[in-house]
Amino acid sequence: MSPNVTDTRVHLLVADQDPAIALAAKMALDDFGYQVRALDSGEATLALVEKRPPDLILLDVVLPGISGFEVCRRIRESSQHRIPIIVATSLDDSESIEAAYQAGATACVTKPINWPLLRHQMQYVLRSSRDQARLIESEERYALAASGANDGLWDWHIAEQRVYFSPRWREQLGLSEVDIGSQMESWLARIHPDDALGFRNELNAHLAGRAAKFETEYRIRDGHDRYRWMLCRALAIRDADGNAYRIAGSQTDITARKQAEEQLLHDALHDALTGLANRKLLLERISHSTKLAQRRPDHRFAVAVLDLDRFKNINDSLGHLAGDRLLGLIAERVSGLLRSSDTLARIGGDEFAILFDNCGEVGDLRRVMERIRREVATPYTLLNQEVVITVSAGIAMGSTSLGQAQNLLRDAEIAMYHAKSLGKDRHTTFDAGMHAEVADMLQLEGALRAAIAHAEFRLHFQPIRRMEGDAIVGFEALLRWEHPVRGTLAPAAFLGLAEETGLIVPIGHWILREATRQLAAWHRTIPRLRSSYVSVNLSSAEFANPELLAQVERALSESGLSPRHLRLEITETVLIQNAGHASQVLEQLRARGITTAIDDFGTGYSSLGYLHNFSFDALKIDRAFTQEIDRLDKSQAIVRAIVTLANNLGLDVIAEGGENPAEVSCLRDAGCEFNQGNAFQQAVPADQIEAVVNNQLRASVAPASRLHTV
Ligand code: C2E
Ligand code: CA
Ligand code: CA
Repeated sequence: MSPNVTDTRVHLLVADQDPAIALAAKMALDDFGYQVRALDSGEATLALVEKRPPDLILLDVVLPGISGFEVCRRIRESSQHRIPIIVATSLDDSESIEAAYQAGATACVTKPINWPLLRHQMQYVLRSSRDQARLIESEERYALAASGANDGLWDWHIAEQRVYFSPRWREQLGLSEVDIGSQMESWLARIHPDDALGFRNELNAHLAGRAAKFETEYRIRDGHDRYRWMLCRALAIRDADGNAYRIAGSQTDITARKQAEEQLLHDALHDALTGLANRKLLLERISHSTKLAQRRPDHRFAVAVLDLDRFKNINDSLGHLAGDRLLGLIAERVSGLLRSSDTLARIGGDEFAILFDNCGEVGDLRRVMERIRREVATPYTLLNQEVVITVSAGIAMGSTSLGQAQNLLRDAEIAMYHAKSLGKDRHTTFDAGMHAEVADMLQLEGALRAAIAHAEFRLHFQPIRRMEGDAIVGFEALLRWEHPVRGTLAPAAFLGLAEETGLIVPIGHWILREATRQLAAWHRTIPRLRSSYVSVNLSSAEFANPELLAQVERALSESGLSPRHLRLEITETVLIQNAGHASQVLEQLRARGITTAIDDFGTGYSSLGYLHNFSFDALKIDRAFTQEIDRLDKSQAIVRAIVTLANNLGLDVIAEGGENPAEVSCLRDAGCEFNQGNAFQQAVPADQIEAVVNNQLRASVAPASRLHTV
């Protein structure tokens, strides 16, 4: 057992030349729990203190070698030891006593020693030295805790008008002692104007005794003139009357926490991708505008909803990262056109909304919308490809009678859907009649979804003939919807919605399979059609679908049709919207032996540059140029130019339309090799094709009747 653990006695070191003193000390103190150790020189005393510090030293001033004063001084110098030292002096003079205290003595006694009295004195000295040690320890502990918590400390002596700022307090703010001084005013002067009053009020409330403690969060300007968030906590010390004469406390830097809180608040009201306001914040601002307008009737406001046209294609063909990037770019462009009082929000995947606060007339807004649409439609470069996207928008003017903010947003959304239904890439202004229209459209969408499962789609076929000799070379497959209530619907009535909802993809897959199956059947049953092809339209969503090739291949293998008997039609717009992806897909299709045609040629982009960039087999001249071609010189010139261009590029030319003999002969004169028009034959259900072919056969035997087979 180690003596240190069990030994609870007071270790008293007696340093005295006279062995009688040690003996007397033993006799007087042994029974009171003292363990006395005697040494007779200053050196031995210092050595022992170094090795095993006693609890108390009784030190004679007269020692051989080093004097008692010197021993005392050296022990005090090595600051680790706060051992109480009682200096004994036989010289009963004030000079020695003075010298002893100066050397650091805790107390003095004169010889001869009165042992019972000294014992009481020693007990007092020991107790107070223990108290002091405890105090120092607790102070150290507090300082450690404060520095561990990174807190700054401050202590305001109110009566003396002096504040102590701890080094850490100043460090938190990057301030020197000179910067901050010791006046309360220089602290208060740094507080953020928005927080100054609150700070003072809280402080005064506690000083006046109205609040149990002072605790406040506030912003303070640091040495770099930036504001930092601080949590300040303090307690006042009061006199007997309860008046605070001093207040001390801590200061914690909570800037990081505040920023995190602000971030959370920001995140709750903003869209992470673009940093724009989200729907929630937009609705709050609309409510605010509505309230403003209720007070000030001249306060005009409006909401516009913008939806990107065929955004899904971008995601499907270029990937979601590119899609996200595009959304960010669009957000930037639109922001650049708005005033600071306007709010631009992203309220859905590819849907944005703008609150125009304190705006002009409807006419002004239309002009703003025009500018926004033009800006959005300017080409972007994504993954080194030029990408074009258009936007459809709806505007609704705010009114005080709207009630909920949601209603205004809904009206703008309805107007936007109206713009989509008119063919996209435009904007409309809301009017009450649009509600019914939207209801119809929603109903149509539901029915369209069901139509696939209910097998309500049919394909009609329109023959494509060689103008020289009228032989049928192929058919264009054209979609019809046998609507249970509304009868047979042409694509114009539902195709836009099918594209917008993405339903065109499964429908398109069905079209491919049905068209190839039907043609393969005719190849087997109608000898004259053995080398004919079927032309299938691809909308932009289908073209962007990564499954397209697999679907085409499946249709071919199921039907047994040779790839060269399948032609796919793509419009210029689809090509331009996504040039890089388009040329890749065209290459892949042609590598499999499938032929391709540019549909509606001449209506999309007037740039002919892309003709060189894409590989395809045929051009279909849009009906806009063949209509009334017999009467319009301009149309004739255009058709001739297209034919020449196509011949030079080695492409087939198919003229769409031709509704009467005059138009047809004009097309023939213009040099069109192929024609697909109602004058020859309009689109009919598959089961009528055999009759059409037979009819046509008879007609070609008797050429005069050829033009009357419509
Ligand atoms: P399109 O590709 O330009 O198809 C030609 C359209 O012109 C067809 O209308 C056809 O019936 C019509 N047409 C042909 N000759 C004449 C004529 O001499 N006079 C008149 N007035 N019209 C003529 P349809 O069947 O209503 O198709 C309209 C559009 O719908 C098509 O234009 C095409 O863009 C799209 N569409 C049709 N079927 C499909 C399909 O299966 N898939 C996809 N994705 N789109 C299709
Ligand atoms: Ca077509
Ligand atoms: Ca066409």
